Amino acid sequence: MTWKSLTQKITKCERCPRLRQYCRAIAEKKRRQYLRESYWGRPVPGFGDPRAPIWIIGLAPGAHGANRTGRMFTGDSSGDWLYGALYQFGFASQPSSTDRNDGMKLHGVYISAAARCAPPDNKPSLLELRNCSQFLDQEFLLLDRTRIFLGLGKIGFESILHVLKRQGVAIPTPTPKFSHGATYYIGDYTLLASYHPSRQNTQTGRLTQPMWLEIFKNLKTLNEA
Ligand code: SF4
Repeated sequence: MTWKSLTQKITKCERCPRLRQYCRAIAEKKRRQYLRESYWGRPVPGFGDPRAPIWIIGLAPGAHGANRTGRMFTGDSSGDWLYGALYQFGFASQPSSTDRNDGMKLHGVYISAAARCAPPDNKPSLLELRNCSQFLDQEFLLLDRTRIFLGLGKIGFESILHVLKRQGVAIPTPTPKFSHGATYYIGDYTLLASYHPSRQNTQTGRLTQPMWLEIFKNLKTLNEA
């Protein structure tokens, strides 16, 4: 498996009929402010540095974010939070991410998600997550320098534990639990957890900018250790 063949496999995937129908319908209907744009509407591959020591895993593409632009966390407010923090700590070349051809480069970071298709109400089913987990496994094998994981939200966090387990890494007992700011050391890997920077979290104050930036400060410290 190469990066190129993995990207092709992801973008052509039709394994979850409910999600594929939803993404296509969103891409056809569009949001009023994006009517002149051509939506991506396909599964979204991961993005970033193939030699990254840090791998960030979110939930799924946003219906009018990555499902529109075709790049993870690009074109919505979650992306504004993520790329803003990555830029501030030297991991991204630009503070904002609006278009997959905007020239953004990531340094030492790779970004993907537990599901590659936008789900209705941001809720993929367990079966859909299981279907999509094959792509995380393939990325794990390609990202052979990754040692630090950041799981965004409970699903992103647990998807990392599942990948490590499937790849034969011993998961400690009791099993690490999702909690904002938690850090776990699992074999050669370090796993951090953060609330997802979704509007639901950022507009309610569940996740604030200081809380969010603290996560990236820890990430940078771990990466430089
Ligand atoms: S969610 Fe993943 S497995 Fe399901 S159709 Fe999309 S890319 Fe394929």
